[in-house]
Amino acid sequence: KFITFEGGEGSGKSTQAALLAGRLRRLGISVVQTREPGGSPGAEAVRHVLLAGAAKPFGPEAEAMLFAAARADHLEKTIRPALERGAWVVCDRFLDSTRVYQGAVGKVDPAVIRALERVAVGDTLPDLTIVLDLPAEAGLARAAGRRDGGTADRFEAEDVAFHAALRDGYAAIAAAEPGRCAVVDASPAPERIADAVWTVVCARLGA
Ligand code: C5P
Repeated sequence: KFITFEGGEGSGKSTQAALLAGRLRRLGISVVQTREPGGSPGAEAVRHVLLAGAAKPFGPEAEAMLFAAARADHLEKTIRPALERGAWVVCDRFLDSTRVYQGAVGKVDPAVIRALERVAVGDTLPDLTIVLDLPAEAGLARAAGRRDGGTADRFEAEDVAFHAALRDGYAAIAAAEPGRCAVVDASPAPERIADAVWTVVCARLGA
């Protein structure tokens, strides 16, 4: 099974991906936990190109192509081999991040986004996508707190409108694809969110 976590900055994707992977492993399921951009040596190199440095060197179209290139490598080297040997894959961000960040927010033409998906992803779509939903102000506060304690991230625009647009973008995807996506409230404590995620995983995938 292939499970992805999506949501805006500070929604707790990495934490929840790790908690879910742990729960599955305790059941004896073989799990590959991975993330985007990155997840294979080539894709991690592209991540470095995209995220290193203070200036934002690429426009949204070029960015979308770089994310797609990283995704194609990640799928080929990490995700498909894991699925083929029967492991479950739990991935922090996947194609919906590109639909939202570069598409809905970056205004890249939806036809371009779809064409890149066809090339990079093909038919390896997630069985389940957990959309972690958080009001813009709460995500902003969490992301700002993390950044002040860590390294600056040029992508994290400190702007409520940006966070609100991300939230709207994810909500639209979840509404359009209810069979694949499940929205989970990301406001409570991490353990409570993990319980809600687990309920969804059991109901949808029979873990
Ligand atoms: O999820 P993570 O924080 O590792 O993502 C790194 C950064 O890349 C985020 O700040 C996010 O804003 C950005 N990003 C993006 N477009 C994507 C995926 C991630 O701008 N498709």
